[in-house]
Amino acid sequence: MATNWTSTLSVSSHPRDNLGLGYVYAVASRRSGGISVGINVNPNKACNYRCLYCQVEGLTRGKAPALDLKRLKMELKAFLGDASRAQESEEPYSIRDIAISGDGEPTSLEAFDELVLTLREALSESGLLGRVKVVLITNGTLLRRARVQKGLALLAAIQGEVWFKLDSASQEGILQVHDTRVPPSKLFENLKAASSLCLTWVHTLCFRLDGTAILDMPRERETYLAFLGRAQKEGLPLGGVVLYTLARPSLQPEAPRLSAVSEAWLQALASDVHGLGLDVRVHP
Ligand code: SF4
Repeated sequence: MATNWTSTLSVSSHPRDNLGLGYVYAVASRRSGGISVGINVNPNKACNYRCLYCQVEGLTRGKAPALDLKRLKMELKAFLGDASRAQESEEPYSIRDIAISGDGEPTSLEAFDELVLTLREALSESGLLGRVKVVLITNGTLLRRARVQKGLALLAAIQGEVWFKLDSASQEGILQVHDTRVPPSKLFENLKAASSLCLTWVHTLCFRLDGTAILDMPRERETYLAFLGRAQKEGLPLGGVVLYTLARPSLQPEAPRLSAVSEAWLQALASDVHGLGLDVRVHP
């Protein structure tokens, strides 16, 4: 366990090994507004997406390997113990959440439900159950799997949240941004399933590719707003939508072609989303 762990944190850098642990890392997160403790269940750097902005070096296609639950619990309890002590003393940071995230899609883990159970146990045994939020950061593609849904119900029982990636709602946009052919209709059904089980927020990373924002490309904004509008019309109980932009460099070959959008750009989109009756948060 690294001592003085807050000195390793920065919003512009999220090294997964900054604590010297296998599954647990810590980041200073804009979206959380404090320290986010990350659980990386994809140490093999495997994902079913290949987002142009992905910060995983050596990203590969695939799924999460089997998880050593005992080790995860031990690491998390050790970190939470240190963090609680730091919070009570001089450290200016506070733990805002535990994020199930990391170097790939976490719901590709076979025993996803057991992961959530283990997190609940670690929080409970550290006296932090109900005091630290648990969020699942997901690309949303696998949320109708039985064990994932079981995990989402468990997550809801500990007041957890799902942060559901939606950067484009068109087939062409999904292919362009994520290098994957997932139908938008599947993402909609998965969003519906997730929001029926657990508080779900849509998270949209807005960025420019060769100078043009993805949602400024032909039909992209209309399609995105139509997707969210349909969610509203069908009464999906969404928490709302979070809009943010690039903060850290991509580690994909397309990196030189990407740039952030401005706060004004995000606010303009926020106004459109708000017009649908959805709560919107902007993190420039
Ligand atoms: S879903 Fe996350 S881990 Fe997977 S490619 Fe996209 S940014 Fe990387």
